[in-house]
Amino acid sequence: MTFADLGLMPELLRAVEDAGYSEPTPIQRDAIPIVLSGRDVMGGAQTGTGKTASFTLPVLQRLAPHASTSTSPARHPVRALILAPTRELAMQVYESVLTYSRYLPLRATCIYGGVDMRAQTQILREGVEIVVATPGRLLDHVQQRSIQLNQVKMLVLDEADRMLDMGFIPDIRRILSMLPNQRQSLLFSATFSNEIKKLADQMLNEPQLIEVARRNMVSETIEHQVYPVESSRKRDLLVHLLKTTIDAQVLVFVDTKFGCSRLTHYLNRCDIPADAIHGDKSQQQRTEALEGFKNGTTRVLVATDVAARGLDIDDLPYVVNYVLPNTSEDYVHRIGRTGRAGKKGKAISLVAPEDRSNLAGIEKLIKLTIPVHTVEDFQASGVRDHSDGASTGRRGRNEDNAGRRSRGSADSAAPRSRSGDESASPRGRSERTRTPARKKSTVAADGFDYAKPYEASDAPKAPSTKPDTPSRANRPVAFLLGGVGRKG
Ligand code: AMP
Repeated sequence: MTFADLGLMPELLRAVEDAGYSEPTPIQRDAIPIVLSGRDVMGGAQTGTGKTASFTLPVLQRLAPHASTSTSPARHPVRALILAPTRELAMQVYESVLTYSRYLPLRATCIYGGVDMRAQTQILREGVEIVVATPGRLLDHVQQRSIQLNQVKMLVLDEADRMLDMGFIPDIRRILSMLPNQRQSLLFSATFSNEIKKLADQMLNEPQLIEVARRNMVSETIEHQVYPVESSRKRDLLVHLLKTTIDAQVLVFVDTKFGCSRLTHYLNRCDIPADAIHGDKSQQQRTEALEGFKNGTTRVLVATDVAARGLDIDDLPYVVNYVLPNTSEDYVHRIGRTGRAGKKGKAISLVAPEDRSNLAGIEKLIKLTIPVHTVEDFQASGVRDHSDGASTGRRGRNEDNAGRRSRGSADSAAPRSRSGDESASPRGRSERTRTPARKKSTVAADGFDYAKPYEASDAPKAPSTKPDTPSRANRPVAFLLGGVGRKG
């Protein structure tokens, strides 16, 4: 099947060809005709499946009859609103909009917090058909009357489950109440909890359900590995792996801002080029850190969960969980940064004995018993309740070992306590294993408060409408679930 078979218009087919896509991915095959027909959609898809294009392309086509070269703001009301939970994700969606709309005179912009509102206000005043926004900043503009939502005909809610985790649902409900009832709505989520279903009931009208991957499942192309190690030895093990086993760029997840900075400094001291991305960094620093990583100058990007969702980094072969995440679902999202687009990836977790129950929860969720690898001088025992049976005892063993499918481990799925990084924290280890599960809150593990992520003021200018050369179009083309292609 080709993109032309899906009924896309020539301007979009050209843009898709420029992007180097030879055939649609499963979510694109399913979603594009339905969105083009005007129906509401409830879409479930893993990250890296091509879901952004699955909604962006048909949204553009449905807006195309309204495209206008007039300079009058009145001819460019906001007709499509795309909501994303984080600035990074909003920027990525916006870049996709630019890539696919390059042959259509439609205006688009991206509004998010952490930057001065004035530049955004100016763009909104000049008129723009497509707005990609984070909810909080959008509401700031509504309050300042710099945006009118009464002509919105299409609404996309991306990463709805993350919106929920971050406490954005009240904001979303407020935004919904400002939109015309006559509209098409699309909701995308990696997982569908009861709360998401409730939101969908409220937001969608007889939606078509599209689900291309089983819920909470991870890409088959990812190889999972566990390295049992005492917390105090983690950083040395990481350096050892980076010098002997991990032969490419790696995204390393930690749990605290402090741990993030500390590990980054340590790696740099060990001559491993590393940068940090966490919620205390200004938007500009976060953008620069991400750019440095994407263009290859930084070998290791150390991140808190702020970076866990939505980052689309081409060719990222390794993700390391320096500290396991608080919830098993976050493991799925974190490791979704690798093994994208049908490529192989490795998810390496450094697991201390006190993280045992957390590991059990992850294995239960992904229905996989993750093979244990050990490196001489770094082992720790007791990361599994039953045994560490798969231990190899060999130094840096790196065999092709995709893991055993378990028949529903009986291990407890109770989330573990915060943090396993002894080196970064003075708190006692034994106490922490008994700390009750963290309640859902808007404050991330690194202290970043998602409820007000927009305070930083030292950020770059807001993105303008359509730059001459959309950066995404120049990026290497992903190989996606069999949909391969590379142009030029
Ligand atoms: P997404 O799931 O939307 O984050 O997309 C993941 C990656 O797949 C992005 O880098 C897209 O540019 C790329 N992509 C999207 N659709 C296709 C396709 N049909 N063929 C190849 N790559 C694609």
